[in-house]
Amino acid sequence: LAQFLTYKAHLNNSEVIEVSAQYTSQRCPKCETIKKSNRNHDLHEYHCTNCDYRSNDDRLGAMNIQLLGMQYISGQEQPKFELATNA
Ligand SMILES: [Zn+2]
Repeated sequence: LAQFLTYKAHLNNSEVIEVSAQYTSQRCPKCETIKKSNRNHDLHEYHCTNCDYRSNDDRLGAMNIQLLGMQYISGQEQPKFELATNA
């Protein structure tokens, strides 16, 4: 898939940026809560139990991946989402 995307991107004078997929389908783009059970596979819906944000799950993943790409372009070498710890 990466090869195909890169090929297609180059035809359109674009580049492909590879980012970590971790938590991209579990993270709320509004309040940043990461919770696996917020995603309902059967309904293809993400519903944040913290802030009540709702979206199609694929759309939500795309939003999170876009954010990582923007962070990469802004200079972060390996942008990724991480679970908050109680340190
Ligand atoms: Zn939320």
